[in-house]
Amino acid sequence: MDYPSPIAKLINSFSKLPGIGSKTAARLAFYVLEMPEADVSYFAQALINAKRDLKYCSVCGNITDTDPCMICSDKGRDQSTILVVEDSRDVMSMEKMQEYHGCYHVLQGVLSPMEGTGPEDLNIASLIKRLQNEEVKEVIVATNATAEGEATAIYLSRLIKPAGIKVTRLAHGLSVGSDIEYADEMTLFRAIEGRREL
Ligand SMILES: [Zn+2]
Repeated sequence: MDYPSPIAKLINSFSKLPGIGSKTAARLAFYVLEMPEADVSYFAQALINAKRDLKYCSVCGNITDTDPCMICSDKGRDQSTILVVEDSRDVMSMEKMQEYHGCYHVLQGVLSPMEGTGPEDLNIASLIKRLQNEEVKEVIVATNATAEGEATAIYLSRLIKPAGIKVTRLAHGLSVGSDIEYADEMTLFRAIEGRREL
C-alpha cells in the first residue's frame, strides 16, 4: 500500500535533503503531521522566505538579504585584507571568533575535478575583479584542509601572486580534512595568527 499523496510528497521532499534517508524522511513527515498548525505554517513560510529573500552579495558572494552585504558595506572593516572561504557558513564561524576585521570572499565551493567543478563554476572571476579595483594587500586563503581545498588554494595563489598581492594560507592547527565550520574559536584564531605565505 502506498502512502496517501500529501504525505508521500512530504516524505519525498524531506528525502531530498542531504543526509536524510527514506526512513528518516518518513519519521520527519509523520512528525510534521503531529505539529501544531501554527508551527507548520511558520516552518513552511520560513522555507519560502529564505529562498525568496536571500541572495548572494554582488561583491563577496556571501548570502545576504541586502546587497552589498553588511560586511561589505561596513567601512570600519580593513579593506586591504580579503579572507577567501568555501561557503557562507565559514564566514559565520570566522565572525564568531571576533578577531578578524578584514573582508571576505565566498567561493561557493572548491575546485573538484572528480565532481566536474572548475574555476568557472566558482565565484573566482569576481574575486579577481575586486583585486583589480580595490586596494588589497593580502589574500588569506581559508579553504578547508581537504585535497580539494588545498588544490583550490594553490590555484588561487598562482592566479593572484603575479599581481604583487601577498597570498597566505591558514596554519593548520586545523587537522587535515577538518572543516573550518566545525573548528572552535581558539583554533581558528591560532590558524589565522600562524598563517604562512603561499
Ligand atoms: Zn559582501
